[in-house]
Amino acid sequence: MVRTRYAPSPTGYMHLGNLRSALYEYLFARKNNGAFILRIEDTDTERYVEGAVDVIYRTLNDIGMYWDEGPDIGGDFGPYYQSERRDMYLPYAEQLVREGKAYYCFCTKDELTERRAEAEAKGETWKYDKKCSHIPYEEARKRVDAGESYVIRQNLPESGEASFDDVLYGHIAVDCSELDDMILIKADGMPTYNFANVIDDHTMNITHVLRGNEYLASTPKYNMLYKAFGWESPVYIHLPQVMRDAHRKLSKRDGDAYYEDFTRAGYLKDAIINYVALLGWNPGDEREFFTLDELIDAFSIEGLSKSPAIFDINKLNWMNAEYIRKLSPEDFHKNALPFYEKAGIAHMDAGILTTILQPRVEFFAQIPDMVDFLSKLDENYSIELFTNKKSKTDAQVSKTVLEMAIAALEKLDDWTLESVHDCLLSLAAEKGLKNGTMLWPVRIAMAGKQVTPGGAIEIAILLGRDEAMRRLNLGLAKLSE
Ligand code: GLU
Repeated sequence: MVRTRYAPSPTGYMHLGNLRSALYEYLFARKNNGAFILRIEDTDTERYVEGAVDVIYRTLNDIGMYWDEGPDIGGDFGPYYQSERRDMYLPYAEQLVREGKAYYCFCTKDELTERRAEAEAKGETWKYDKKCSHIPYEEARKRVDAGESYVIRQNLPESGEASFDDVLYGHIAVDCSELDDMILIKADGMPTYNFANVIDDHTMNITHVLRGNEYLASTPKYNMLYKAFGWESPVYIHLPQVMRDAHRKLSKRDGDAYYEDFTRAGYLKDAIINYVALLGWNPGDEREFFTLDELIDAFSIEGLSKSPAIFDINKLNWMNAEYIRKLSPEDFHKNALPFYEKAGIAHMDAGILTTILQPRVEFFAQIPDMVDFLSKLDENYSIELFTNKKSKTDAQVSKTVLEMAIAALEKLDDWTLESVHDCLLSLAAEKGLKNGTMLWPVRIAMAGKQVTPGGAIEIAILLGRDEAMRRLNLGLAKLSE
């Protein structure tokens, strides 16, 4: 049975690169009727970020990537917080020590610093010099029992190669002479990530590991551990980095790439997950739009790509806009409402707002800027805005039009899309004017800008009769100065 795991360290919030690893692990498990396991790798207490675990739960739940085993729901291979497994690791390390595949190391920080400086002075790159590997086991054991501080290091051969086969990257080999005897158990008794991930993946029966390729170089060492224990290693599929551009990778430090920043800015989770899925994977045909279920269906390891995926905000915006267009008017309104509130237009006609905004919005946080003129007119707008070649208007024409429009609108009994529309257009027809010649000055006077979502009539209704008339009169006054 396929078992995959998403194993985040709560050392920062979830950016789109993390999300992609989680997604591929999830898709692969679901596609193969396997299990998707959530393991929180929280042994690095110094880098622990408060709230990061909640973000992980929230994000996966929000998207609907439910896990089959995890810290909150348990499972047969728990605990699923690495910190709660802390007592499991030492016996495994001690087993390796007894077999000569690892050793107790008593070198102090100062000694190591000194020897490193000496090596570097000779122009050598420092790696641990295996000094403590020569201490006989019995003697080392006595020092441990006497309470001396120690770490446990992996005892790597000094020659030969350490290697593994990656599904995407092929055979990855490192010369053992280049490898450091890495620490398995730290002085505080906690395992290093390097050790814990091997023990956990094995004891949790993980069959496939999909993770960022920053682990590609360490995996030969992990494989040496599997060999030392005589265990079968999982299938490794390292994923190319998600890049900000051709040179820089998208990192946790780039605040703008956090999942929750996108949702807060009014990106739809379905669009985000669709976009993220395509960062390094393609279905092998022209399809671009996928629900989570469709992704499960379409996902395959063969579709993964080795070349770095570049995070393209324009593409995400385009995709999000496509998802927004497909929302029902009710759902559009629900998503837009917080931004209407921010823009001070929540009291305005929801139907009209949806009509004018749904075709234009790429993400909901754009709304306040797009509609700033609705809540407050910038009264200092230039009267040059009234001049428009296509509508055949200039300041003079606009003044005449506004005079007529104001007089006609004042006589209206009610103020609806229909009544304002009929009033202005019949006026234009009566005076032999193009519709544009009538509507352009009205829109400029009501918006104070040339580019607006919606036209003169919609804006008039959104503003309400009093405010619309006030603005028309103000425009007329400006043109009369
Ligand atoms: N805890 C590691 C990280 O968040 C996971 C690496 C792995 O998947 O093995 O980067």
